[in-house]
Amino acid sequence: MVIDGHNDLVLRRWRGEPTSHMDLEAGRAAGFAGGFFALFVPSPPPAEIPEIPYAMPLDDPIPYEEAARIAAELYDTLCDLPVNRAESVGDFREGDIAAIVHLEGADALAPDLSDLEAWYERGLRSVGIVWSRPNAFAEGVPFAFPGSPDTGPGLTDAGRALVAACNRLGVLVDLSHLNEAGFWDVARISEAPLVATHSNAHALCASSRNLTDRQLDAVRGSGGVVGVNFAVNFLREDGDQVPDTPIGEILRHVDYLADRMGIDHVAFGSDFDGAVVPDAVGGVGGFPAITDALAEAGYDEESVAKVAHGNWLRVLGETWR
Ligand code: ZN
Repeated sequence: MVIDGHNDLVLRRWRGEPTSHMDLEAGRAAGFAGGFFALFVPSPPPAEIPEIPYAMPLDDPIPYEEAARIAAELYDTLCDLPVNRAESVGDFREGDIAAIVHLEGADALAPDLSDLEAWYERGLRSVGIVWSRPNAFAEGVPFAFPGSPDTGPGLTDAGRALVAACNRLGVLVDLSHLNEAGFWDVARISEAPLVATHSNAHALCASSRNLTDRQLDAVRGSGGVVGVNFAVNFLREDGDQVPDTPIGEILRHVDYLADRMGIDHVAFGSDFDGAVVPDAVGGVGGFPAITDALAEAGYDEESVAKVAHGNWLRVLGETWR
């Protein structure tokens, strides 16, 4: 059974685009039991893939009313998918696919949080405070390679209130896309395990989207988890967007994260349908190729199961009410 930290199938469906990676039947056959399904209000995509080195400007904020309107449509799109809703760890079952309603960026939440409980009632169980742009709560990291995640100010007052409200409701707070100052603000105030749903080790790939060793230590100290992102440009040492990237690049990050934090803090966060992933993985049907590679590399059955689903189940169980 595999539980995954991030996919963008909902955005593809909302745009009327075919999926590249999230063939749900192939996933079901490959043991994919669901995970975080992002509701992402998109910024305009960059005109072209940047040449390395690059330091893209921070995307413009999206006004709350506009973000809320689009997020409502994204939510309806998710509800139309042939998947169950995950609101407790028992909702993940072999042979079924369960979707965690995840806001990738809290832009769609009212800055006074007056609609957060309504979102919770509709199934929201995970909030990424930001995508890579500013909002009322915090500021995301602009995409840069090589680049540091330490790029701007930390949480606003509204951001701190959001973390407290999520703790109270039992909504997971996702740190992927957050800048480093914001990360440390959350680390200081959050009562829940720290989670980065789809980020990698900065020591291996110096993208601004990846986590420094100090950040990894904080995740470990909180009992949290990092979902390894399969985006080749967040895996490769050269930061290049080359689909012909071996599965070994995913293993390299699993190895590093497990060495640094322990196997209890490493999971998957594929970024399927939102990134260029290794051809050798191909999509959600490719999880067995990764777990097989882990076994061949010497990970015992228990360790593979922790990475594939056990760590997500533990952290979700400790976070949700
Ligand atoms: Zn993302």
